[in-house]
Amino acid sequence: MPELPEVETVRRGLAPTMEGALLQRLELRRPDLRFPLPRDFAARVEGRRIAALSRRAKYLLIDLEDGATVIAHLGMSGSFRIEADAIEATPGAFHHERSKDEKHDHVIFHLQRPEGSARVIYNDPRRFGFMDLATRAQLDIYPAFRDLGPEPVGNLLSADYLAGRFLGRSQPLKSALLDQKVIAGLGNIYVCEALWRSHLSPTRKVSTMVTKAGKPKPELHLLADSIREVIADAILAGGSSLRDHIQADGTLGYFQHSFRAYNREGHACLTEGCGGTVERIVQSGRSTFYCQRCQK
Ligand SMILES: [Zn+2]
Repeated sequence: MPELPEVETVRRGLAPTMEGALLQRLELRRPDLRFPLPRDFAARVEGRRIAALSRRAKYLLIDLEDGATVIAHLGMSGSFRIEADAIEATPGAFHHERSKDEKHDHVIFHLQRPEGSARVIYNDPRRFGFMDLATRAQLDIYPAFRDLGPEPVGNLLSADYLAGRFLGRSQPLKSALLDQKVIAGLGNIYVCEALWRSHLSPTRKVSTMVTKAGKPKPELHLLADSIREVIADAILAGGSSLRDHIQADGTLGYFQHSFRAYNREGHACLTEGCGGTVERIVQSGRSTFYCQRCQK
């Protein structure tokens, strides 16, 4: 399943083609993805100009000039590709091969730009993705967004904010960080990576990160910084792969993230001078990879 950095990479890959384009026609090749597509979907978006492409957690938001927003989620296997006169590209880089089998092309955005026409094609073999339509004014109360915490990029995610959420709570750090009400869009991989970077144990109780007065301890500052950095680094890696491949031949390849803790069970810990070994434990049904020696 694509994580937030992959979705952000997709957004950046699509933006130059979609932003400012006229959405001339929306071709729907089936009535549903994971859920039924919105009623009168095509009629409600055709003829509008795309004002901006944005993102909330792992959702892509296609903002139209009339105040409507298309909400898109890639599910497990969804991808977009761009077909224009000269280039064809699949924005976003994933661990496994994206499908280009046309029988899985379900939704096609036919776009008109000053330099010519382009198609943005949504392909999804397993159909766990979905698309919905909301007005911009409704986004804050949209069910998937209503209770979401702050994004793991940017200044809203601070040690002070986390101290407020952690005070008096006995939850383990790992499960608190996976809670989308605490941080939006942070998944299993990047929680493991951020905990390894900040030398914190995934089993540690969150209340131990906060002083009695409710202020963040130094390690909580380190954790907030590590979360922002690990996401920023992954977005940077996706972005550079996107640029390289578009420059090469117009087709995007797939890059492998280099994880420092995730999926490294039995390998030497990469913390300098640690000498420990990465272990795998299971917490609330999810694998956690960490080093007992340097993560306290
Ligand atoms: Zn270690």
